[in-house]
Amino acid sequence: MRKKKLAALLLALALLTLSGCGVEQTASPSPDASGKLIVSTTFDAPAEFARAVGGDKAVVSTIIPDGTEPHDFEPKAQDIRVLSTADVFVYNGLGLESWAQEAVSAAGNSSLVAVDASDGVEPIAAVDEKEDGRPDPHAWLSLKCAEQQVANIAAGFARADPENAAYYQQNSETYIAQLEALYEKYAARFTSAQKKSFVTGHAAFAYLCRDFSLKQESVEDVFANGEPSARRLVSLIDYCKANNVRIVFAESAASKEVSETLASEVGARIETIYTIESAEDGKSYLQRMDENLARIAESLGT
Ligand SMILES: [Zn+2]
Repeated sequence: MRKKKLAALLLALALLTLSGCGVEQTASPSPDASGKLIVSTTFDAPAEFARAVGGDKAVVSTIIPDGTEPHDFEPKAQDIRVLSTADVFVYNGLGLESWAQEAVSAAGNSSLVAVDASDGVEPIAAVDEKEDGRPDPHAWLSLKCAEQQVANIAAGFARADPENAAYYQQNSETYIAQLEALYEKYAARFTSAQKKSFVTGHAAFAYLCRDFSLKQESVEDVFANGEPSARRLVSLIDYCKANNVRIVFAESAASKEVSETLASEVGARIETIYTIESAEDGKSYLQRMDENLARIAESLGT
């Protein structure tokens, strides 16, 4: 009789733990039972940085599904639930995830460490059709800003899991050295380039341009707000012809058709450029940035 009662009690306890809504779960200190830091990020680029810093001591997930524009994403109840059990939440900041603060409060997870990855990045004001003074959020497409983001992520991980702070610090230094090496690989090439402007689909490269003193001309504005006006397209066609533009960049996600129209109108060819807002072609952040920079250099004739 006693044994049966004990078995029933154990079963009830097991069910309570499995259901995941017990008070114990959110109150338990991080890292979780498996010993790993549970990290929730918003999209692909911060997820890669978090994996690089977390190594085998962190489990990293992404809230915004691949193929979804982070610019128009709105979280659902299930996304808030992820934050209620995570140890760390990493978001890009600069207004990209305008829902971030609200989601963190709604999650009601007092031990959650929220990391604004762009903390300390000098913002660039977005140049878009509305000109409403919002910052341009695309800091992750700059190697220099990415270095800052990785350092911020390491600091957040150290707060959530002080025992492994040295490990996260070491990993972040290794990754920052790779970012810096990639920057060095292109810095001299861009400095010596005669041409400084390239033409692309959505205006995601202002921070990258700041790194190398370049300029982007784009079909779509910073927030990827749909089709350009006819006037914008005509002025781009004129620009491409006047500057003998041979390559027009396009992303897989946005603006491809308009970029193609522009390219065929001016006799240029289309090249892929990665915005790293989703996982793309099974390639890492560093591989995609390397390809982006190689193609931009080629388009500038350097
Ligand atoms: Zn974008």
